[in-house]
Amino acid sequence: MKLFTLKGRVAIITGGNGGIGFGIARGFVQAGASVLIAATNREKNDLAVKTLRKIGGKVASLEVDVTNERLVEQMTETTLKRFKRLDILVANAGINIRKQPENFSLEEWRSILDVNLTGTFICAQSVYPTMKKMGGGKIITMGSGTSLFGAPGMAPYAASKGGIVQLTKTLATAWAKDNIQVNSILPGWIDTELTRRSYETTPGLYERVASRTPQGRWGVPDDLSGVSVFLASEASNFVTGTAFPVDGGFSALGGYSPPEVLKSDKRAKGLKLVGRN
Ligand code: NDP
Repeated sequence: MKLFTLKGRVAIITGGNGGIGFGIARGFVQAGASVLIAATNREKNDLAVKTLRKIGGKVASLEVDVTNERLVEQMTETTLKRFKRLDILVANAGINIRKQPENFSLEEWRSILDVNLTGTFICAQSVYPTMKKMGGGKIITMGSGTSLFGAPGMAPYAASKGGIVQLTKTLATAWAKDNIQVNSILPGWIDTELTRRSYETTPGLYERVASRTPQGRWGVPDDLSGVSVFLASEASNFVTGTAFPVDGGFSALGGYSPPEVLKSDKRAKGLKLVGRN
């Protein structure tokens, strides 16, 4: 469908060699885009390129640390050299460390803010002049449920993801005049390397997330590709400065536990459930 096609479009996807970024890359290739994968690990990059080429995409990769301005500049230049244009940036690269706020070292705090928030800014700044010159573009940033909620074990991560939403709104308003739309995606709990470490070391986490999610399951990377294709295509030309939860209803449920959970919760003993027997 013409409205949603990415045929002839060129995208950079940071962190596109695995997890959510790879799911988005696959969606883009299927929609007709050429893709540059930008991430630090060369073997993962090579494997991603090989896999995406099998589905017929024009794909290349570059070793890029998004905190390094020189490498990010090289990322933009390489894309232009290789594909002759640049239409879409997905600033997806991200890291997390989980512990109580009082236990973070300043170095840990800075490393998370650097990759997630500053890295997003550096990449957006780098592609801007080209998109402006070309008459427009699409930038997709990667927030999180923690852009909306607090999370006790994720102080720097949540701070970075909250910041990403505000950065997204700011870039959207600043660059609307250049026909550049900037939007953020807020994934719920998605089964990737990033979250695998958590549920493998936290007994019951996997089940708790599934039961707290109205759709009753974890997300998978491909769940993020549809909304990304929409935000990268002409179909979203009047959509800018937004933050889309893609979370199976997790954020829609808000802070309320469903009655089924409340009933089995020891703290709820003796409480009368309004409107239910
Ligand atoms: P993964 O750990 O699977 O992937 C992270 C990606 O980021 C990898 O491709 C990694 O590549 C890349 N990356 C990490 N650091 C850098 C860096 N300094 N420079 C360039 N690339 C880097 O995580 P997810 O796929 O789960 O996460 C992707 C994004 O989605 C992140 O921003 C994350 O915060 C966000 N998100 C994820 C959720 C989830 O439940 N999984 C929920 C909400 C948000 P390499 O190893 O080669 O550097």
